[in-house]
Amino acid sequence: MTVITRFAPSPTGFLHIGSARTALFSWLFARHHGGTFRLRIEDTDRARSTDAAITAILDGMEWLGLHWDDDVVYQFARSARHAEVVDELLKRGQAYYCYTEAEELVAMREKAKTEGKQFRYDSKWRDSTETPPAGSKPSVRLRAPREGETTVHDVVQGEVVVTNNQLDDMVLLRSDGTPTYMLAVVVDDHDMGVTHIIRGDDHLTNAARQTLLYQAMGWHIPVFAHIPLIHGADGAKLSKRHGALGVDAYRDMGYLPEALRNYLLRLGWSHGNDEIISTAQAIKWFNLESIGKSAARFDFAKLENLNGIYIRDTENTRLVELVMEHLTRRHIHVTTIGHERLVHGMDGLKQRAKTLVELTDSAIFYVTSSPLVYTEAAGKILEDGGKILLAEITPLLTTQDDWRAASLEVLVKQFAESKELKLGKVAQALRAALTGSTISPGMFEVMEILGKAEVMGRIASCYSV
Ligand code: GLU
Repeated sequence: MTVITRFAPSPTGFLHIGSARTALFSWLFARHHGGTFRLRIEDTDRARSTDAAITAILDGMEWLGLHWDDDVVYQFARSARHAEVVDELLKRGQAYYCYTEAEELVAMREKAKTEGKQFRYDSKWRDSTETPPAGSKPSVRLRAPREGETTVHDVVQGEVVVTNNQLDDMVLLRSDGTPTYMLAVVVDDHDMGVTHIIRGDDHLTNAARQTLLYQAMGWHIPVFAHIPLIHGADGAKLSKRHGALGVDAYRDMGYLPEALRNYLLRLGWSHGNDEIISTAQAIKWFNLESIGKSAARFDFAKLENLNGIYIRDTENTRLVELVMEHLTRRHIHVTTIGHERLVHGMDGLKQRAKTLVELTDSAIFYVTSSPLVYTEAAGKILEDGGKILLAEITPLLTTQDDWRAASLEVLVKQFAESKELKLGKVAQALRAALTGSTISPGMFEVMEILGKAEVMGRIASCYSV
C-alpha cells in the first residue's frame, strides 16, 4: 500500500504553529514510507476564507520545507463532486431530504436547553410520508444507524467507541445546496486516496460521524491518528502569549526552519531521549506509535536553545545571507567591506546567538562604520578609564604592522603587563570602542577583521562621545 497523507488547513488565518506541527507529522509519515503528501485547502467557508490566508499557508509550508506532492486541492472547487456523492447516497437510501426549517431547529435547540437535555435532531423527515411543504428547500441528511456503536480505531487514542444513538443524522448538503464540512472532508479524503488522516484531536469526535459516512458509501476507512493539542508552558490552552502565533512570526523572530521542525517534532513525538533530531533522522524514525497521548507544552526557552545549536551548525555563507535579510529589513545598508567583515566574523558571531535576530544585533558593529552607537555599559567603560587606556595603547597600535589576531594579542598582553593591568581590562576598553558593546566575539579576532585603519578610526572617534 502506498501511504498518502494530507494536510487540510482552513484558510481563515495564518499558518498556526499547531497546524504546522500537524503538517510536519503528516509530511514525515509520508516521507518515511516513501509515500505522497498532499495539501488540501478547505475553503468551503466562503465568508471566512481569504486569499491572504492561502498565501500565508503556502508560504509557511515552503519556508518550513514541507513540500507537498501534486497540485494543491481546493475544496470549494469540488462542490459538484460532493453533491454527486449525496445523490448516490440518496439513491442508496443512505440519505434523505429534510424539510425542517432553520427556525424549527433553533426552537428544538432552545427546548432541549431549557429541559437540560443534549440537543439531538429528531429525524422527523427520516421516514416521513408527509408531503413536503410547498416551496421549501430541503437539506440532505445522512440516514445514520440508530442501533449499535461506531468505533474509531485511532493509532494515538486507541479504540474510541461511540454509541450510535448519540450521533444524530448529520446534514450533508445544506438547503442552499452547499456541502457541509463533514461531507466534503470525507469525499475529498476518499477521492485523494488518503490512507492516513493525521490531525489535531479536536477532530476526534468528527471521526465517528465521518466513519458513518465512509460506511454508508462502502468506502475504505483511512487510519486515523489524532494528535493531542499543544498547550502553553503553564499547561493552559495555547494563547498568543504562549506562542500561538503564525509560522511567519517564528521566521521574523529569527528561528531557522530546521530548528523549528526539530522542536515541533519533539512536541508530541519522541525517540528515546533524543532532543536533536535532524530532518533526515526524523524521516527515518518517524512513526505514529510514538506520538504522545497527553498535550505537549510549548516552551520558548527550549526552542531558543535548540535554535542556537542549529545556528552554530549552519554554514557561514547561509548565515550571512540570513543576517543580510534581517539587516535589509531594518534598513541597514551594508557596504562591500561590511559584507566581507561579516563573512570573516561569522565563525565568532554565531557562537552565542540563539536567534537570527540576536545574530544580526551582534553583527551590526561589523557592517556599520563609525561613529558607533554605544551601549550604556560600553559608554561607562570608556568614561571610567577606558579612554585613557586607549590613548596609551594608540602609539603601539599605530606602529604595529602585523595585524593578525595572534600578533595583536601579544602586543596587547605586553601592554597590559607593562601597566600591571589584567588583560581583560584593556580588552574591555577596546571592545567598547570598537564594537560599542561589552559583548562580542574575541577582541583580537574582531581587530583583525576590522583592519587597522578601521580600528584606529574607531578608537579616535570614541573620544568625541
Ligand atoms: N480544515 C480542518 C481544520 O483546519 C481540518 C480538517 C481535517 O484535518 O480533517 O481544522
